Amino acid sequence: MTPKIARFLAEQQPATPCLVLDVDRVEENFRALQHTLPLARIYYAVKANPAHQILERLVGLSSFFDAASFEEVSACLDAGARPEAISFGNTIKKVSAIRAAHAKGVSLFAFDSQEEMEKLAKHAPGARVYCRILVENEGADWPLSRKFGTTVDNARSLMLRAGEMGLDPYGLSFHVGSQQTTTRAYEIAIGKVAMLFTDLTEAGVNLRMMNLGGGFPVRYRDDVPEIDQFGDAIMTAMVEHFGNNLPEMFIEPGRFIVGDAGLVSAEVVLVCRRDPSDPVRWVYLDIGRFGGLAETEGEAIKYAIATPHDGTAMGPVAIAGPTCDGADIMYEKSNYRLPIALTSGDKVELLSTGAYVTTYASQRFNGFAPLAEYYL
Ligand SMILES: *Cc1c(COP(=O)(O)O)cnc(C)c1O
Repeated sequence: MTPKIARFLAEQQPATPCLVLDVDRVEENFRALQHTLPLARIYYAVKANPAHQILERLVGLSSFFDAASFEEVSACLDAGARPEAISFGNTIKKVSAIRAAHAKGVSLFAFDSQEEMEKLAKHAPGARVYCRILVENEGADWPLSRKFGTTVDNARSLMLRAGEMGLDPYGLSFHVGSQQTTTRAYEIAIGKVAMLFTDLTEAGVNLRMMNLGGGFPVRYRDDVPEIDQFGDAIMTAMVEHFGNNLPEMFIEPGRFIVGDAGLVSAEVVLVCRRDPSDPVRWVYLDIGRFGGLAETEGEAIKYAIATPHDGTAMGPVAIAGPTCDGADIMYEKSNYRLPIALTSGDKVELLSTGAYVTTYASQRFNGFAPLAEYYL
């Protein structure tokens, strides 16, 4: 928790649940990434947290932006971003969204299939395009599965055709999975994609860019490698494969930029046991899976939780949300322990919840309002 957030909580005592985020920390994270990968251009993945205050701060830092929809493109433009600083990085775009973005001056688009490339050729003629390659997501706590990316062979034939279709075959991209906890995943992906890059260059395609995606992790309950370890591993791998003839490097961090800048202040609604003899207490908070904690599905992302009784005796707990839905359980199998003294009415903090929380909150499921947000 940053001092600014601590002061806000103490002085304002905001109604819970709410997200409180320190925008200065966003800037620090942006600068840390810039420092460790000075040759990479940072495209902030807007979907991680599209709050206007965050986008504005990043515009002030000359950040670039990775947008997943036309609505996100608009949000970036409204925050002062130039259209040339926006990449439409979703490989699944409606024609109307492609046309609208192109009309606003966006000229960089991702694709991973023939049909999407044809849509781009028709509705964003002349645009710079990059093809997303399917890579292993091993080591990622929130993998992107097989929903995105294509094989090296297919990417090769698509990129060879892009020029003939009036597009500018600009680069290749990959994503190693979100909350990627190993540097090795980047090394393997860079090796795979660099080979294709060289191959296409030799075939006469004027490729200029390699997009390394996002995935940089945040410290939740468990430790993760420092950002500099990712920077070192990436630069070493890039130099190994390209020598001193490096292509332009793009990265698309989302979680790393905003995750640890915010926390959720929540209230304990109830503490009970299924049976008095049961050692496990059930702790119900006023936020759950439907209030924004979607990434607790499968107990994938394990948030650290601070309570007013920290430092006193602990015991095992299951942690759930306030709705009447049986899926609204955050943690039952991940060996969470909380103080025995915890009781209803206590305020708790779910730490590092600045990414992938506010936008996942449902619209009034069980009557609960979407998560309140404060940007300091
Ligand atoms: C979600 C996403 C990102 C951001 O990923 P993080 O793990 O939050 O860094 C970057 N690029 C693309 C294409 C994405 O879909």
